[in-house]
Amino acid sequence: MTIPNQKHANLYRSLVLNSGDAMYLFNLDGKLVEVNKQACANLGYTREELLALSLFDVDTEYKTKEKLLEFFSILNREKHYKQTTYHKRKDGSTFPVEVSISLLNENGNKLILGISRDMTDHVEAKQDLFSYIDTLEKIHQITLISKDIEKMISDVLNVVQEVFKADRTFFISSDNTKDQFHFPPVEIIKPGVACISIFDENEIANNYRQELFEKRKYPGNNTFVSTYSEPEENKSYIKDLYIKSEMIVAITITNNTDYLLGVHDGTKIREWSQLEKKLFIEISRRLEDTINRLHYYHHLKQSEKKYKTLFENAPLSYHSLNSNGNIVDVNNTWLKFLGYKKKDVIGKNYGDFLHPDWKHVFETNFPKFKACGYVNDVHFKIRHQKGHYKYISLQGCTGCHPDGTFEKTYCVFQDITSRKKAEDELKDSEERYRLLMKQSPFTVEIYDLNGLQISVNKAYEELWQIPKEITLFKFNILKSPQVRSTGMLNYIKRAYAGETLDIPDHKFTSEIEAGSIYKSQSRWLRTRVYPIENEFEKVTHIVLVHRDITDQKEAQKALRKSEGQFKTFVQRVPIPLSLVNITNGKIKYLNDRFLNTFGYTLNDIPHLDDWSQLAYPDPKYRKWVMDNWEKAVDYGIKHETDITPDIYDITCKDGSIKKILISGIVLGDDFLANFIDLTVQKNTEKELIAAKEKAEESEKLKTAFLANMSHEIRTPMNGILGFADLLSTPKLSGEKREKYIKIISQSGERMLATINAIIEISKIETNQIVKCISQVNVTELLQNQLLFFLPDANKRKITLRVKSLLPVDESFIFTDYTMLTSILTNLINNALKYTNSGSITFGCTKKNDLLEFSVKDTGIGIPQNVQKSIFERFTRVDLENTKAIEGSGLGLSITKAYVELLGGEIWMESEKGVGSQFFFTIPIKG
Ligand code: ADP
Repeated sequence: MTIPNQKHANLYRSLVLNSGDAMYLFNLDGKLVEVNKQACANLGYTREELLALSLFDVDTEYKTKEKLLEFFSILNREKHYKQTTYHKRKDGSTFPVEVSISLLNENGNKLILGISRDMTDHVEAKQDLFSYIDTLEKIHQITLISKDIEKMISDVLNVVQEVFKADRTFFISSDNTKDQFHFPPVEIIKPGVACISIFDENEIANNYRQELFEKRKYPGNNTFVSTYSEPEENKSYIKDLYIKSEMIVAITITNNTDYLLGVHDGTKIREWSQLEKKLFIEISRRLEDTINRLHYYHHLKQSEKKYKTLFENAPLSYHSLNSNGNIVDVNNTWLKFLGYKKKDVIGKNYGDFLHPDWKHVFETNFPKFKACGYVNDVHFKIRHQKGHYKYISLQGCTGCHPDGTFEKTYCVFQDITSRKKAEDELKDSEERYRLLMKQSPFTVEIYDLNGLQISVNKAYEELWQIPKEITLFKFNILKSPQVRSTGMLNYIKRAYAGETLDIPDHKFTSEIEAGSIYKSQSRWLRTRVYPIENEFEKVTHIVLVHRDITDQKEAQKALRKSEGQFKTFVQRVPIPLSLVNITNGKIKYLNDRFLNTFGYTLNDIPHLDDWSQLAYPDPKYRKWVMDNWEKAVDYGIKHETDITPDIYDITCKDGSIKKILISGIVLGDDFLANFIDLTVQKNTEKELIAAKEKAEESEKLKTAFLANMSHEIRTPMNGILGFADLLSTPKLSGEKREKYIKIISQSGERMLATINAIIEISKIETNQIVKCISQVNVTELLQNQLLFFLPDANKRKITLRVKSLLPVDESFIFTDYTMLTSILTNLINNALKYTNSGSITFGCTKKNDLLEFSVKDTGIGIPQNVQKSIFERFTRVDLENTKAIEGSGLGLSITKAYVELLGGEIWMESEKGVGSQFFFTIPIKG
């Protein structure tokens, strides 16, 4: 080094004196020759005091001259040298320094320059760093081996407490933390410190804890550092909880602030150094990692447990075989499915569980499986513990040792027993269907999508009387003119479009090429056409199934013809017919003649009950008919004979009653009844009988008439002739003559009366009577009659009287006076004639538009059997005592004719020996 000139010398001097590093200049004896300001400041001496000292007083390392010389010898070699040593202050304290030393040669004067730097901070930092590393190492040891999370936290807290020398160290988990990771809070309080626990259950602690998680937002990776210098500004709990400085760090698990690690200083406001903060964060990160790890470990355990359960109970059976094919593992499903216990199968050969037929399949294929590494859908028949077998489909792969050699298999299988069964059944049913088609009496044809015939059965050949080769793969249903002309084509097309259809009965003529040895056939067919679809519901074929209905059609035609004939016959047969269901009484059919005869239609009498109600309106008669009828039908069914015919009175729709002979036959469930109308026949019969009776009666009357006439004419005639003879007797007294003349005269009157009666009857018979209507006073007429007959009655001591005369204003009517007089005269005359004692009463009453006259006597009466014919001509009661009474038997018949001519009616009531009463009416208005 060259000594600089004066100007430079001053500059250096100033630089040295003011340098931030302490500088010392000393000679080879160790005597200090110059120091700068920083050297004085570091050592606590003034310049003057230092210049009085030597290096041995300042440096604690070089206290002897020998040491210094040794040091100088190094300097001679190195020129520059750096070393650390300790310097001693004026107050005796020492401090570490790093000294840079160089040898100066000033004009042969050798001096040493030492530039020293205070290393106190550096050394402290170094120590702190060692402590930091030490602490982390401890934390590492605690967290590494830990499985018990609570103990781990407590251990970590102890370390924190030791390192940070805080009044309180704590760890707390949030309320959000899931149950299994919500640990009890841990807190360590420095012994002798008078602070309460922040986990106390009092308001102060509660408020603080609440604020810890809620109010202070803890950022993920930072410490929360706070100091509370002014106690009165702080929240009361801060003071009460003895907090002056705090450092809190959040430990987050899955993005939540789940835990907090904190330290408190309660005695002084503490400035946490950077290193302390870093350490605190680092400890919390370790803690976080560990909790996370344990957290995941826990979850892993849980999910392992879950997967183990899943594996054991999965719906797939699992087994694992070793290289020899022995079972090393099975799951629960496997055991359950085959009914074994685990101890029964582990270690056994898989082949031993298989059906003998399948054992060799396994033995042959297992080596192949091991070689290729996987199997898929391999079928086995495996034995159930109970002895029966199950079909399974196996899938699996192999696992290898790290060196690549085979270790074991991992196989799962599914139960395909029912699938196999279904497959077998399908196979069976396919076979059955194939047979069915082959043997079916129905003709079956199958066509492809192009309309080409691809399959037919035996019945097809029989139907058309050709071998199938004639049409198979030749006949095209979509191109056949026959199919088109019969209208089938439309159905075929619809079947191709997916429909199932019944084609209406049709006649089909097979198309045979000209010149073929086979003849064309015409058959009536009933056809069903349907599509065959694949699994995607796409039509792939169509099937035609025909039934040959030719015979049926022909039979039908014949039947229709005969049915038609029969129907017409039944409809038109001149006998009423009805068809009734025996079981339910429903009337099924009535023919035309039934309607004509009775007037009832099927609408009027849908049921037998309706018929009986209408045909037999009288309930008593109906009951009799029905009982009678039922008996006849039952008998007919029992003896399988026709129903015994019987005659019934049937009331027709128009109210008339017909005599009908009903009979019938049972036809299965039905009853065919036929009705023969006997009304006309019966009436004729009746008329014939009446005519016969009348003829007989007439004969009798004629005889009676002749007898009567001879009597009635002869008697007076004999009287006239006899007494006329006597008149000519001489000397006949006047008295006798008188008597004889009277007798002649009476006999003449009697004959005249008889002749008049005969003439009157003749007139009536020949309709020659002419009415002469005039106003007649009925009361007067009756009184005249009384006056007329009274002398005769008196003579015979018979009371004669008129009763119930009409009031005067009602006495006048318009009628034939002579006829009315004649009627009354006749009746009163008869009464007198046939009454020996008693009375005769006659009179008239008004009954609506009629006048009813009556003549009543207490005479001999008329016997019952004669009463019916009493008004007929020549009827006389043939009694001994009446024979004496004169009479022609014409009077009542003339009377009856007069009454009827006047528009009235006549009748009588009589009892033999008691008396008779004759009644007649005549209309008031004539
Ligand atoms: P006749 O001239 O015989 O009386 P009618 O025709 O007047 O003829 O009478 C017929 C018969 O009726 C009589 O013969 C008599 O037997 C009977 N008859 C008529 N009126 C009476 C009566 N009032 N009482 C009893 N019998 C009577």
